[in-house]
Amino acid sequence: MEKKTEQPTVKTNFIREIIDSDLAAGKNARRVHTRFPPEPNGYLHIGHAKSICLNSGLARGYKGKFNLRFDDTNPSKEEQEYVDSIIEDVKWLGGDFEDRLFYASDYFDKMHAWAVELIKKGKAYVCDLNPEEVRAHRGAPNEPGKDSPFRNRTVEENLDLFARMTKGEFPDGAKTLRAKIDMAHPNLNMRDPVMYRIMHASHHRQGDKWCVYPTYDWAHGIEDSTEGITHSICTLEFEDHRPLYDWFLEQLGIYHPRQIEFARLNLGNTVLSKRKLLELVKEKHVDGWDDPRMPTISGFRRRGYTPSSIRAFCEEIGVSKFNSVIDIRVLENAIRNELNKTAPRAMAVLKPLKVVLTNYPEDKSEELDAVNNPEDPSAGTRKVPFSRELYIENDDFMEIPPRKFFRMTPGQEVRLRYAYIVKCEKVVKDASGKTTEVHCSYDPATRGGDTPDGRKIKGTIHWVPARHAFPAQVRLYDALFTKREPEDVEEGRDYKENMNPASREIVNALLEPGLKTAPAGYRAQFERLGYFFADPKDSKPGVPVFNRTVTLKDSWAKAEKKQQP
Ligand code: ATP
Ligand code: MG
Repeated sequence: MEKKTEQPTVKTNFIREIIDSDLAAGKNARRVHTRFPPEPNGYLHIGHAKSICLNSGLARGYKGKFNLRFDDTNPSKEEQEYVDSIIEDVKWLGGDFEDRLFYASDYFDKMHAWAVELIKKGKAYVCDLNPEEVRAHRGAPNEPGKDSPFRNRTVEENLDLFARMTKGEFPDGAKTLRAKIDMAHPNLNMRDPVMYRIMHASHHRQGDKWCVYPTYDWAHGIEDSTEGITHSICTLEFEDHRPLYDWFLEQLGIYHPRQIEFARLNLGNTVLSKRKLLELVKEKHVDGWDDPRMPTISGFRRRGYTPSSIRAFCEEIGVSKFNSVIDIRVLENAIRNELNKTAPRAMAVLKPLKVVLTNYPEDKSEELDAVNNPEDPSAGTRKVPFSRELYIENDDFMEIPPRKFFRMTPGQEVRLRYAYIVKCEKVVKDASGKTTEVHCSYDPATRGGDTPDGRKIKGTIHWVPARHAFPAQVRLYDALFTKREPEDVEEGRDYKENMNPASREIVNALLEPGLKTAPAGYRAQFERLGYFFADPKDSKPGVPVFNRTVTLKDSWAKAEKKQQP
């Protein structure tokens, strides 16, 4: 038989095809150099993860280089906290930028000098129109714009005014520096775009050195060019800006990267926009950027996702030129597949119901063998204590069951995982009629859960021993938004109206004793309940707090089925 090679399969895509053809043509001395250029105005989300995995993955695959560059050209919204979190997230995802951490603000002097060069060439001018007037002069897609009355200032006048703008002689918004291209150009981005605006604002790295700041359109191509980026990969909305970047680089006569656009990631039942995520944080709809319900990288990390599962997800969804919404279950499947292989099993009861084994001796206790991971025999077994009183999941008992209910119900045998076959003999209720305890008999001949006489037991339920289990906080999560496309709202309505009021449920669970020492960051499968992660912030030694990363089965399919008539 032919031996299968263990090479990870790398799906080709249109970006890899472009790079392959550039390499074949010997472009850029056969270098591949990519970058991830975030603006430090918020925490990164899963859409950014797609860009990081794509760019750093290409660099790795082609033995090229990958830069992390902060596009910190707008001082008003940028903060050090965001810079720190972005570095942490990129590293966590495996984006290896080595020593190439750059800041666009480090190029401010150079950008300014190049702007002066364009003025000298008659390709840029100082304009006194205010932002509304600039907009009014801009025209529309089918209607040419109007020239600014300041468009024909002399080079000397422009140099003088730009120097005075730079010195801080004018208030915010009083003047701009604009490229002199064509106010009738069919592409609106080419209608004399603004290159510099006046902002008397402190910059997180430059302090008060500057009071003119470059626009994204002016700065971006220069940043890529300066770093020798060969393939500048960005999302589709920048396609219409490409002619402008081309124009700037041609006027300056400097190195020219190749821009390639791909469709951004949209994920169902959440929002991926830093502005909206900031709003959720500021208005306290969530507990911060790393709330496990947030679609941020730090949120997924705290939820219990691994970097490899997010990379697998990004590889799975691939890249294309068409916008679409990816189902959240694609992401859930990625982490489920991984944890199924790696996570040790444990037993926990989220909503406990007490069970007393009336024929089990009161003073007896024993230790039963439980399998740590059926997918991985090398993980071995562990001992779980067992005695007369236990807890089972409240939902696993029904006094009056529907058809095909194979769990615990009066008169029916059920298997306690790794323990014994038991049968409910009596239901104990409180004054209000609520079941408080279930009395069972157990069959001592079924230790380990096998039936020596071969009788069939259809149901197996999990349990924890009453005397040895310990209480712990467990948080169960559901989607942050009930609607698949929450931003799709009628005029005048707010996307936040689509928030899921039940996105988090906090329960006091009872856990098997071995979990007591689970350190922060520990991952386990709680049998039948899902994969759980010891919260790295809230867990204390001996007092773990668990977040459910994902359920065991596709709970979305179930929810959809329910909705069908
Ligand atoms: P947002 O739209 O969420 O506010 P942004 O585009 O303003 O994000 P940047 O910091 O400018 O955020 O993004 C850095 C890089 O990440 C850019 O190259 C951008 O193309 C890419 N990116 C942002 N959002 C997505 C997404 N949803 N899918 C793929 N790439 C994305
Ligand atoms: Mg942006």
